[in-house]
Amino acid sequence: MQNNLKNTLDHRPYLTGMNAQALLNLCRDAGVKDVHAETLNAYIFRRGITDWHAMPELPQQLRNYLDQHARLFEPKIIANQQASDGTRKILLSMPDGKEVESVLIPASGRLTQCVSTQVGCAIGCKFCLTATAGLTRNLSTAEIMSQVFTARHLIGQPVTNLVLMGMGEPLHNYDAVADFVRMVTDAKGMAFSPRRVTLSTAGLVPAIYRMIEDELPCSLAVSLNATTDEVRSHIMPINQKYPIAELLDAMRAYVDKHGRKRILIEYILLGGINDSLDDAKRLIQLLDGMETTINLLPFNPFQGSEWQRPERSHVEAFRAELKQAGFIAVVRESRGRDISAACGQLKTEVVARRKLAAKL
Ligand code: SF4
Repeated sequence: MQNNLKNTLDHRPYLTGMNAQALLNLCRDAGVKDVHAETLNAYIFRRGITDWHAMPELPQQLRNYLDQHARLFEPKIIANQQASDGTRKILLSMPDGKEVESVLIPASGRLTQCVSTQVGCAIGCKFCLTATAGLTRNLSTAEIMSQVFTARHLIGQPVTNLVLMGMGEPLHNYDAVADFVRMVTDAKGMAFSPRRVTLSTAGLVPAIYRMIEDELPCSLAVSLNATTDEVRSHIMPINQKYPIAELLDAMRAYVDKHGRKRILIEYILLGGINDSLDDAKRLIQLLDGMETTINLLPFNPFQGSEWQRPERSHVEAFRAELKQAGFIAVVRESRGRDISAACGQLKTEVVARRKLAAKL
């Protein structure tokens, strides 16, 4: 608790949250040559070395300045679970003690990290465990970035793909997320290809237009999950504000702006709710003419959720209908099903264990 308080009162910026311009400003403030900003950038983001005392090329004057005017932070790992399929889920404590999840998913030569962008979430999707606790606060760029550094140090290698699909709605925390996306795709830093960074939204339409205007260097995924406003508004209250037609307009504007850029559609199949052949047919109509990959995600019920897992036959029929219409449709079983697989589940379990321990 005392450490949390100390961290909250310390206003020095976290070095791993500083973009190229901020590093340049820092070097100028320190009175050293601009070129050292590039050295810092390369050490931190390309090589993953964050301790400036382990950067021999830096002048002593800059190291002394950093001692006084910057700080480092690596989240504490509260829980670390690895599933039989190699998926690893970690629960991380931020400087003020707030906890978020991050997931590492190995698959055919790739290592994808799913990062969180908020502590909790305000969007309230009814199929999501994270939604049940509401929003606590946004994560800063440094806190989002810290998840990538922690993963790298934990497994001893950099991740190859990033998906902003963890806890929180990324576009609800636009400035920090946009900064993060630009930093990870900075050619002189981590140098992720924008195709390997995917931002997933529940459908914050104005922020999608902002993404387009800002030319944010990442791919877009949309969590659609229904084919009528009635059903979508029921399972995703955000649809009452931004109905399907408006969301599709924004998606088309994104595709138009980016030429042949493909949008990833996420569709959670809820048994008896949105998994019928009529739903599949409506989905085909809605996405007509748009280049998409459709991820079909059979729902994994969690304690207190009001829906069921869909029948296997419904999932297959749904996928077959989409494929027949020429869409790329893939059934994605939740990875790491023998650990706390659902978003928010690990945190919920750790909190429950703490409460139990406090009672004993
Ligand atoms: S699915 Fe995503 S946007 Fe919806 S409540 Fe959960 S974390 Fe928020």
